[in-house]
Amino acid sequence: MTRFADKNALVFGIANDHSIAYAIATALAAEGAQLGLSYGDERLARRVEPLAATLNARFCVRADVGREEDLEMVFATAAEAFGGRIDVLVHSLAYADRDDLLGPFVETKREGFGRALDISAYSLISLTRRALPFMVEGSSVLTLSYYGAEKVVPGYKVMGPAKAALESVMRYLAVDVGAKGVRVNAISAGPIRTLAAAGIPGFRDMQKAATERAPLGRTITTADVARSAVFLLSDDAAATTGEVLHVDAGYHLLGQ
Ligand code: NAD
Repeated sequence: MTRFADKNALVFGIANDHSIAYAIATALAAEGAQLGLSYGDERLARRVEPLAATLNARFCVRADVGREEDLEMVFATAAEAFGGRIDVLVHSLAYADRDDLLGPFVETKREGFGRALDISAYSLISLTRRALPFMVEGSSVLTLSYYGAEKVVPGYKVMGPAKAALESVMRYLAVDVGAKGVRVNAISAGPIRTLAAAGIPGFRDMQKAATERAPLGRTITTADVARSAVFLLSDDAAATTGEVLHVDAGYHLLGQ
């Protein structure tokens, strides 16, 4: 299928070929999208640049989403490479200080809390604001969340409030930009072994419990998430906005 033929997709958050963003970018490219990529850290360049080449990305630039000057550069690059039109924006990134993930939640530092919320949630506002002038009716934004936004998942710590804020930001943006015909949605993905997941204490146990208890009794893959992402980003979901779609084998349904 070529649901994204002649469409331009700007994807944030590839760290390596295990990243959810990489699976989404790959699925979008397979549907005909022209890609632009942005990654967060210079140390990732040697992994991300070859992936960008494989995906035939129009550009691949480093940007810290906490720095407005970096974002200015990304969107100037995108505007030029994409001829002034962005159809798809993917926000697949999060950050928390390691200390705040290791200690008890009550020990979360003010600075670390601010940084986690800034990078993981506020950035969706700044990316959407910068993309909006280049978006048209039918353009679409997607972010990635986790069940720890809704319920307490031991080990997820400060990322829980950060994802709760992210989901709320997603809904407020959906209302704000809806009049322009732009949709904003989230996927709440079940646990997947990625670089970010490696930083969550007890991640393996979380994944094991989710797999054993989920109604579908299986682990989630980045390909599962990518298929749902393509649906939400495409015209197939033209009447869906402000939604959190769980891609977790049904785990969120359970009361205990
Ligand atoms: P990943 O490590 O591959 O991706 C996380 C990305 O965030 C990295 O590319 C990293 O460079 C980027 N990032 C961090 N700080 C940044 C900054 N200041 N500026 C720009 N980029 C920055 O891991 P992933 O699991 O693919 O994570 C992608 C998204 O999916 C995250 O929002 C994560 O919370 C979410 N998610 C992951 C899981 C899971 O189990 N892996 C489950 C649900 C939701």
